[in-house]
Amino acid sequence: MSFVEEVAATHGGENICACIQCGICTGSCPTAGEMEYPPRKIIALIRAGMRGEVLSSSSMWHCLSCYMCTLRCPRDVRPAELAHALKSLASRYNYRIKGTRAPAIYHSFVSSMINNGRVHELGMILRYYLTTNPLVALKIFPVGLKLLLRRRMPLRPHKTSGRRSLARMVKKFREIRGSH
Ligand code: SF4
Ligand code: SF4
Repeated sequence: MSFVEEVAATHGGENICACIQCGICTGSCPTAGEMEYPPRKIIALIRAGMRGEVLSSSSMWHCLSCYMCTLRCPRDVRPAELAHALKSLASRYNYRIKGTRAPAIYHSFVSSMINNGRVHELGMILRYYLTTNPLVALKIFPVGLKLLLRRRMPLRPHKTSGRRSLARMVKKFREIRGSH
């Protein structure tokens, strides 16, 4: 399977071949300036088979899911959903992403949600900083302490009754998708 076929077979990437490279998506995107490859260009790279460049790029991790591109695209390519599809592929194949820590916050969020049934803010943020930059965790410690003392952030996670069902669903989904 070529890279473009792989993307087209992923939920969110189905209409990639309909793109006419008009650039309306890039012109509408509020974070295009932050992206190594803005939406129009990333579609061109996918169609050129540049798998490594695309999946190791930080571009799709800058997407805010504002859906302006999707609203304005004349060919119903849905670049916002394409960005989700690319993040999913990059995670599934463990690509090392250059220039952003966004994947680490995603993984911390999902891990906290699976363990507790909902997100535990303190656990999530600790895991994020310990895996990316422990020194920053020390810097924000005073703010965290204030939040804890004023009971604005719980010390212990609130575990929901349905968390085991949620964990089973995620496990099954990962088995089907072959992701981590
Ligand atoms: S707006 Fe749609 S057709 Fe135009 S470049 Fe973007 S994805 Fe392609
Ligand atoms: S959904 Fe993402 S790619 Fe599309 S315009 Fe918004 S930020 Fe840009």
